[in-house]
Amino acid sequence: RSVRPDHYEVHPEDYDFAESADYLRLQQNLRIAQRSGLPIPFFNVHEGITNDRAVIGGKEYINFCSYNYLGMSGDPTVTQAVQEAVAKFGTSVSASRVVSGQKTIHVQLERAIADFIGTEDSIVFVGGHSTNETTIGHLFGAGDMVLHDSLSHNSILQGAMLSGARRRPFPHNDWKACDEILTELRHEYHKVLIVVEGVYSMDGDYPDVPKFVEVKQRHKAYLMVDEAHSMGTMGPHGRGMSEHFEVDPRDVDIWMGTLSKSFGSCGGYIAGSKEIVEYLKYTAPGFVYSVGLSPPNAAAALASLQLLQEEPERVAQLGKNSRLFLQLAKEAKLDTGLSNNTPVVPVITGNSENALRLSHGLFERGINVQPILYPAVEESAARLRFFITSTHTEEQIRQTVAAVSEELAKFDPVYERLLRATAS
Ligand code: PMP
Repeated sequence: RSVRPDHYEVHPEDYDFAESADYLRLQQNLRIAQRSGLPIPFFNVHEGITNDRAVIGGKEYINFCSYNYLGMSGDPTVTQAVQEAVAKFGTSVSASRVVSGQKTIHVQLERAIADFIGTEDSIVFVGGHSTNETTIGHLFGAGDMVLHDSLSHNSILQGAMLSGARRRPFPHNDWKACDEILTELRHEYHKVLIVVEGVYSMDGDYPDVPKFVEVKQRHKAYLMVDEAHSMGTMGPHGRGMSEHFEVDPRDVDIWMGTLSKSFGSCGGYIAGSKEIVEYLKYTAPGFVYSVGLSPPNAAAALASLQLLQEEPERVAQLGKNSRLFLQLAKEAKLDTGLSNNTPVVPVITGNSENALRLSHGLFERGINVQPILYPAVEESAARLRFFITSTHTEEQIRQTVAAVSEELAKFDPVYERLLRATAS
C-alpha cells in the first residue's frame, strides 16, 4: 500500500506504530540477522572506556569499533581537564550561548581549532551530525545547488535536503564528473556547494582535494570538506587534508569536523572565514536555538587538541598501525576495497550473512568488529569495518588479521579457493 494517501480513508496501521510500514521494515531487516541464528551485533553494552580494547559482558575484547583514533577518550590528561572544567563551570551551559553567555573554554576551543587548521575563525556545535545539517541547511537554499559525493554521510544529505537547494550526487571521488556537471549547470544556480569528505568512513579512501579546489575555483563554487575521519588522522601532524595535500586551508571555504573522534569529545565544528563563522553564530538555527557545547565536552576537545599538538607521535603511530593492518590484510588476500592507508579498513565479505558470521566468529575469539549489512551497503558490498587506533599494538593487529583469515576460510568457499590458488 502506498504510504502517500491519495484519499482520506484512514487505515488502522496509520495510527498504530507497531503495525506501520516503517516499523515492519525495520523488523524485516532485523530478521535477516536473526535467520542466521547469530545474536544481533548492535547496541553492545561496553562496561568501560573503549579504545583498542572494550569490556563487554565482563570479558575484554580487542576492539576495532571505536573512532577513538588517538586514544583521547580515557586519556588521563583529558579526563583531568574535564574534571577541572566541571568543577569550575558545571556540567551544562543550559541555554544558547547567544543569549545566556559563553564560557572561556568555548572561546579558547574555537580559537585553538581555527589556529590548528589555519582558518580565520571557527564555531562549535553540540553534535557532528547537527553541524552538517544546520550549516548546509542554513547557508544554501532554493535557487542553489548542493553537489555531493555519491557516498556522502547521512548528515550531509540531511543538510542538503533541509536547504531546499537542488541536490546532485557525483560519482565517488570523481572530480572530473563534478567539473562536467558544473560546466553544464553552473549558470542555472545562484550559489553552488561542492561537499566531499576527508576520509570516507565506509571505504577508508579519500578524494584528491587539490583537484576539487581547482574545480571550485574554476566554477566559483563553495567547497566544503567534512573531516570527521581525517582530522587528527591525516597529515604528519594530524591537521587533516590541508596538511596531507599541502593545500592552503583558505582555499577550502568550509572545513567541517567532529569533536567525537580524534578529539575525544562530542560535538562538531565549522572552520573558515570570519564572515562565515560570524554569520553562523548569529543565524544558524542549530547554534542559535540550541544549547552551547557543555563544559566537559568543550574541555575534552580542547585538552585533546592540545595533547595532539604536544604529542604528534600519536598521529605517526596511528599511521604506522593503519599501514600495517592494510598490508597484512592484503598479504592475506582479504578484500579491503578502496582502503588507502587510512585508519578505516573494510573487509568485504560478499554478502550480509558472511559479514555476520565473520563478526560473530571473531567475537567468539575475543575480537570486536562491526559488520555493515544490507541495506546500509549493497548486499554484495557487505563488510566488516575495522577502525584502527594509535593505541593498538602490533601484536593485536597481527593476531586480528590472522584470525580474520582463519574464520573466513571456515565458511567462505571463494576465499578458501583463493587461498589455495595463491599457495600453490
Ligand atoms: N560526518 C561524517 C563523515 C561522519 O562519519 C559522522 C559520524 N560518524 C558525522 C559527520 C557525524 O558526527 P558525530 O557522530 O560526531 O555526530
